[in-house]
Amino acid sequence: MQTNFSLAQLADPHVAESEKILRKCVHCGFCTATCPTYVTLGNELDSPRGRIYLIKDMLENGRPADKEIVTHIDRCLSCLACMTTCPSGVNYMHLVDHARAHIEQTYKRPLLDRLIRAMLAFVLPYPSRFRTALKLARLGKPFIGLFEKLPALKPLGAMLKLAPASIPAASPMASPGVHAGKGAKKGRVAILTGCAQSVLDPAINETTIALLTRLGVEVEVPQGEACCGALVHHMGREEAALASAKQNVDAWTRAIDQGGLDAIVITASGCGTTIKDYGFMLRLDPAYADKAARVSSLAKDITEYLASLDLPEPVRKPGTVVAYHSACSMQHGQKITRQPKELLAKAGFVVREPREGHLCCGSAGTYNILQPEISAKLRDRKVKNIEATGAEIVATGNIGCITQIASAAKLPVVHTIKLLDWAYGGPKPDGVSEGRLVAAE
Ligand code: SF4
Ligand code: SF4
Repeated sequence: MQTNFSLAQLADPHVAESEKILRKCVHCGFCTATCPTYVTLGNELDSPRGRIYLIKDMLENGRPADKEIVTHIDRCLSCLACMTTCPSGVNYMHLVDHARAHIEQTYKRPLLDRLIRAMLAFVLPYPSRFRTALKLARLGKPFIGLFEKLPALKPLGAMLKLAPASIPAASPMASPGVHAGKGAKKGRVAILTGCAQSVLDPAINETTIALLTRLGVEVEVPQGEACCGALVHHMGREEAALASAKQNVDAWTRAIDQGGLDAIVITASGCGTTIKDYGFMLRLDPAYADKAARVSSLAKDITEYLASLDLPEPVRKPGTVVAYHSACSMQHGQKITRQPKELLAKAGFVVREPREGHLCCGSAGTYNILQPEISAKLRDRKVKNIEATGAEIVATGNIGCITQIASAAKLPVVHTIKLLDWAYGGPKPDGVSEGRLVAAE
């Protein structure tokens, strides 16, 4: 794509980076076929190619964002299916991240929208605030119907709907410390405790630590970790995202310096995509660029790390039919497609893949709160495809997808690690009834 940025504009490294990305796009439109918002809404401006044109026009003319561009960029899930499809290697992720930061700096959203976004940014990345908010949400549940009738308050209705009826107790394993591996030492890793996941399902990290230590891997929960920053990053709040990234880089650099790390293990693929991008996000900061690049190179999804180990034979082979839902951040963001399915199959599960596996479930960070209507359409389409597999359980590697799919599916939805841990000698996962786990033999 031809671009017409001035030399003065290109002196801004963010603009220069976006210009490089724009020039790679050859307008072929292949990406439209796999874009969930184009497939759902049928409007070119809600396709990757349409958004690329809008972003180009805004940046090239040095214009502040307007209502039209904000509408279409807000509808983008950042699912990155377009990046998987694009034959020209267009880095849509970095382009839309830049556009979102530009929108945040130049566009004044309506008051209620600003308040809701500010509340999400204030609450979600902090486990104690999120826990309190979920408790308060119980009081708001009777008003869901009312909020859903008023367009500006729909996000509040969506938020209350997603809030679980009960909240598990905080996990003692999330506290900083070292969990020694059993037997011969196979490795040493740090684990991201995370924010929303640690409140909604602390058992995911507990299970991960239990399985890794049983396999002989030492696991450190480093002092001073923060939310990965993805939630605010996708809202265009660059400063807050970079502050979180730096806090984590500092925490993991201390862990590297103290005992070395084979990997930084992440159990939510949405976080993994962002941490693997820290090297890019902090490239312009001389105090952090090298450290951030090292952290990004060590970041591994738990399935990616497990696949790199020489695993023993499973203790039991459940034979359970599992529908594997590949989160967008897993398959498009991190290009991890093989490992989770292979690990499940090796552990004795029968893995089925739903149709249209490339399409997002509509969760996408805060998307299911801020764009509840498109999100619900995508969720229902996903659940229909999952249920058509005839599976007994759904496995996935991202807490956002677990919450989203479980809000409409009749099947139990569990994190992949819980099924693997069960096969390798751990307890039966919560929420899976005994009858569903039938021995293979
Ligand atoms: S990130 Fe997803 S929703 Fe956004 S343009 Fe790409 S495919 Fe479409
Ligand atoms: S597939 Fe790639 S090159 Fe083609 S229009 Fe989409 S982003 Fe541009």
